[in-house]
Amino acid sequence: MNEIIQSCTSCNHTTNLAECYPRCPICNEPLNVSLIESGSINYEATWSDPFYIRYRDFYPYLDNTIKISLGEGLTPLMPLENVAKELNLSSVYVKNETLNPTWSFKDRGSVIGVMHAIKNGYSKIGTVSTGNMAASIAAYGAKAGLKTYIFVKGDMLPEKVNPIAIYGPKVLQVKGEYSVLYEQSLQIGQEKHIAFINSDVPMRIEGSKSIAYEICEQTGFNVPDFVIIPTSAGGNFRGIVKGFVEFYKAGIIKKIPRPVCVQSAGCAPIAKAFLNNEDTISHFGNTSTIAPAIGNPNPPSGNEVLRLLKRYLGLAVTVTNCEIIKAQKQLASYGVFSQPAGAVPLAALYKLTDELIPHDSSVALVTTGGGLKDSSVLGKHKLDAEVINISELSYKL
Ligand SMILES: [Zn+2]
Repeated sequence: MNEIIQSCTSCNHTTNLAECYPRCPICNEPLNVSLIESGSINYEATWSDPFYIRYRDFYPYLDNTIKISLGEGLTPLMPLENVAKELNLSSVYVKNETLNPTWSFKDRGSVIGVMHAIKNGYSKIGTVSTGNMAASIAAYGAKAGLKTYIFVKGDMLPEKVNPIAIYGPKVLQVKGEYSVLYEQSLQIGQEKHIAFINSDVPMRIEGSKSIAYEICEQTGFNVPDFVIIPTSAGGNFRGIVKGFVEFYKAGIIKKIPRPVCVQSAGCAPIAKAFLNNEDTISHFGNTSTIAPAIGNPNPPSGNEVLRLLKRYLGLAVTVTNCEIIKAQKQLASYGVFSQPAGAVPLAALYKLTDELIPHDSSVALVTTGGGLKDSSVLGKHKLDAEVINISELSYKL
């Protein structure tokens, strides 16, 4: 096997894997760990082992003696037969990432990122996050016993800060522009030897690729035609595509699903650039979305997502707040309660079927985070419960 390195997604400049710096020193585009082009699934691993033991051929750089797993990954892939029938699709699946230890897909990248930081001598970690990633890094930092720094938005409400603070990290609510904070955290991390495991650092991409590996296994290696992914910074999108490409190169699957980037209409820098046939994204300006988990106006992996969309015949689409709320309720009617960002793939499916997703296609929707993360949005639904006296019970049933 060739040496495993990091290379720039744009100019191919290479750096050592031990560097926890995530961006190219030449052109500032994100870095990728080398493609792992051979390997097989470790069927001796039990379902209670971490995902990176099951797929350890594809994580050859990890030190598996560092045991900080909280039981992330290996989430269900659930068929939505009613939706498939309604839209004349051959199958529709939900990859239910709400069932991770801190209720979002971020745990996959956190465990790999923290293991990598420990292996490379870091005793301090951190992240910049609007919510899901902050809670995830706080949890893994606690499990690993590392000093953990979490930068969140200055105006974040206590009901969102407290579920992060409960794990005991140093939480800093920083006033100022979020995308500037991302850059500054990486600089401070280098100066103070803190591994900032931000949204699209190479090890987060490595964590997310297991979503694709699991979809391959769970569909009996008959992978779907399309995979619809809520996209903010672009890290999860990149990871899922990389996972399919690696299994394809290793001969485990026969095709690479077409990736679909879905964004909120109120914050759609990648979809806008794609639909305008541009090669680079522009800052989206002021955002307005009911799904803040996909609310990054200047996604650090935006240009690389555009490159991947072109390379793998992908699609990009936006959905409105109304469509997101409707999709959240619909997903709940099948038993999956996701946060608004996790419902956008279902909303996108309704928009794309017929014209861009042909009948009889198979589709997987990636549902990214749990609904209790953002209970304030429940006020947008018409939900009620009836108050009655105990003596009235039998009349009401
Ligand atoms: Zn570069």
